[in-house]
Amino acid sequence: MSDVQAIRGMADILHPQSALWARVEQVIRGLLEHYGYQEIRIPIVERTELFRRSIGEVTDIVEKEMYTFDDRNGVSLTLRPEATAGVVRAAITNGLLHNQRHRLWTSGPMFRYEKPQKGRYRQFHQVSVEALGYPGPDIDAELILMTVRLWRRLGIEDLELQLNSLGTPQARAGYMAALREYFSRHEASLDEDSRRRLDRNPMRILDSKNPQMQEIVAGAPEIRSWLDPESAAHFAALCALLDEAGVAYRLNSRLVRGLDYYSRTVFEWVTDRLGTQGAVCSGGRYDGLVGQLGAPQTPAVGWALGMERLVELYGLGGGQPADVAPQVYVVAIGDAAWPSALLLAEALRDGPRPLRVEAHCGGGGLKAQMRRADRSGAAVAVILGEDELASGQAVVKPLRLDREQQSLPREAVAAHVAALLEEAR
Ligand code: ATP
Ligand code: MG
Repeated sequence: MSDVQAIRGMADILHPQSALWARVEQVIRGLLEHYGYQEIRIPIVERTELFRRSIGEVTDIVEKEMYTFDDRNGVSLTLRPEATAGVVRAAITNGLLHNQRHRLWTSGPMFRYEKPQKGRYRQFHQVSVEALGYPGPDIDAELILMTVRLWRRLGIEDLELQLNSLGTPQARAGYMAALREYFSRHEASLDEDSRRRLDRNPMRILDSKNPQMQEIVAGAPEIRSWLDPESAAHFAALCALLDEAGVAYRLNSRLVRGLDYYSRTVFEWVTDRLGTQGAVCSGGRYDGLVGQLGAPQTPAVGWALGMERLVELYGLGGGQPADVAPQVYVVAIGDAAWPSALLLAEALRDGPRPLRVEAHCGGGGLKAQMRRADRSGAAVAVILGEDELASGQAVVKPLRLDREQQSLPREAVAAHVAALLEEAR
């Protein structure tokens, strides 16, 4: 055992897994461009206060999952557990919200002190999409259609869309009272967390991950009958659009999400292909959050998807990695050959159609170098030995096509290799 250790729940993502990530990230970036979302990059650290005030004091995240520390000035900072709070903070501090609308997205690592297990990590990655200044339900629908298109582009099936409306905070007060009443009657069977939440935030109980709580949760009152008329109309319009677009969904009246800032629409894409950690993408409307953080009331809605779970699902569905393997491997035989080999590799990366080239470095005989060429995944090897050095030529050897190797003038190598690659496709 070495004396440097990785941190529990924080993974290194190595090749070839990283190539799978790269492909998924490419597809996501393309999707966001096709919907006109602008990228925003925000810090990983924010003042602790921001998360307390946005996510809510009585949530799993704030109560026990945050990585919080004092900086050298004694200011309490927290590694972001999610991105919405930071995006809203950035929109406020950069003055983006004065009667403006923004479709924004960001991505990167998030941090939660959770019990590490498959699909649940302490550092994980999200892509987070936020539409600020839009009252909906049109934008709510577009955000969901966007995810549908993403699954299609990634070839992912077996995801179920669950949908609910939480109404406005005012309308929710009545529902909270009914929940409190219901759970009080079952107080003896509540776990410790739930009992603590009974007074301050009974909706949190619905989001309990404890299997023993599921039966009680299943019998709880449903929010539907407490919805205010505007929220009900908003929700009906969203459902109607989804019906018209042919998007299947399941109404789940106990879907409340783990953060306090949601109002009206909430949704979650879930799968049973990943074991117990089945939520892949979750989102909803947070009309109150901007105002809660001290800026003028601004309606907003967004979603976040978990990259670890999405990449895993993509791989399970036979998703292909990004094209990162070299197309050409340049072999240099003998001490005098490597400078010419490096320059030839450079030339192959020039031009209107640059190739992915791995130039052999570190010496070694023909056999050893050809073994590396094979293992690299390249379709073609280009070989420079003493004869080729003298004659200004190079040997082009197809590795995956049943074709003879050929000796060519070095200037002709690029075109010949390109033709071979075309044929090998
Ligand atoms: P869960 O119900 O699995 O705890 P959540 O409701 O806490 O998820 P959100 O805060 O909505 O999750 O985050 C959005 C997405 O981020 C989730 O759907 C999931 O895919 C992913 N995610 C959340 N927490 C983790 C984690 N600890 N490790 C890996 N992915 C995570
Ligand atoms: Mg969680």
